[in-house]
Amino acid sequence: MDRSIRHDSVAHFHRDGHMIKPQDVPTKSGLETRQAALINLHTNLEACRRCTGMQGPPVHGPAVLSPVMLIGQAPGTREIEQGRPFCWTAGKTLFGWFAPLGLDEAAFRERVLISAVCRCFPGKNPKGGDRVPDRQEVESCRNWWGGELDLLRPRLIIPVGKLAIAQVMDFRLLNEVIGRQWSYRSPDGWESDIIPLPHPSGASTWFKMEPGRTLLRQALELIAMHPTWRAWMDQRGP
Ligand code: SF4
Repeated sequence: MDRSIRHDSVAHFHRDGHMIKPQDVPTKSGLETRQAALINLHTNLEACRRCTGMQGPPVHGPAVLSPVMLIGQAPGTREIEQGRPFCWTAGKTLFGWFAPLGLDEAAFRERVLISAVCRCFPGKNPKGGDRVPDRQEVESCRNWWGGELDLLRPRLIIPVGKLAIAQVMDFRLLNEVIGRQWSYRSPDGWESDIIPLPHPSGASTWFKMEPGRTLLRQALELIAMHPTWRAWMDQRGP
């Protein structure tokens, strides 16, 4: 069954991940439509089996129409088992970074759309840690996080780790981009802010040593000061 719906300014996807032409789908508008489109995208994502070298089923977080979108690299085995992004050791570190900013893990999952460059487990790297998805896998999975980005048009994008950062901006070294705020401009002209973070993997030492430790602290301070984050904190009241 084609569960796709139409909205003039957002992307919609068939189960195979291809974009649906506006004339092919019925019309709705506003938040309700974007919410339905995001749920539809996730339903179709769950059925994706495009990559032979990846181990699914694909993982996604709740369909939160958030002004903040976090983009990770790819799930690990625990995430695949539990069907939940960042549910194990890297997640503990990641949510530990955000808790002092006012959102604990539960609140973060409710508020922020958690996306990823690839949605299946890439397998282990023989040298240790998880394999980094290859170029073809990244390209194959692009429409899923790209579709989420188009639907949300978030005010703040938080790419986590080199692979995710490379999807939204040009960069050479983590030292040169973390701890600063950057601008994002979509191909169709909407704009957002980017505050990159390092990957919280236990295999990474970058954020545990200087200058990474200081740059991570500066990046988290920037997130705490971002107007969207501050508005969230203001809403909570004293
Ligand atoms: S990695 Fe992405 S594109 Fe590849 S099978 Fe999984 S969900 Fe589909």
